Amino acid sequence: MSEVSLSGICSSCQREVDTNLYHGSNSDKMELCKECYDQYAAKEMLQYWKDHIAEEERRANN
Ligand SMILES: [Zn+2]
Repeated sequence: MSEVSLSGICSSCQREVDTNLYHGSNSDKMELCKECYDQYAAKEMLQYWKDHIAEEERRANN
């Protein structure tokens, strides 16, 4: 038995599609379709690299 119940509605685009639960930041669970998750993951990745590059620049300037 799984505790996880999916509504089958993507919480981002509100479409009734095949959804999955994904872990977001703060370990929130998000029910997203593949498409929205890809967008979310791309954004997260972009933010990660921005932070990473900013950190590198900070170090280089010290
Ligand atoms: Zn969606």
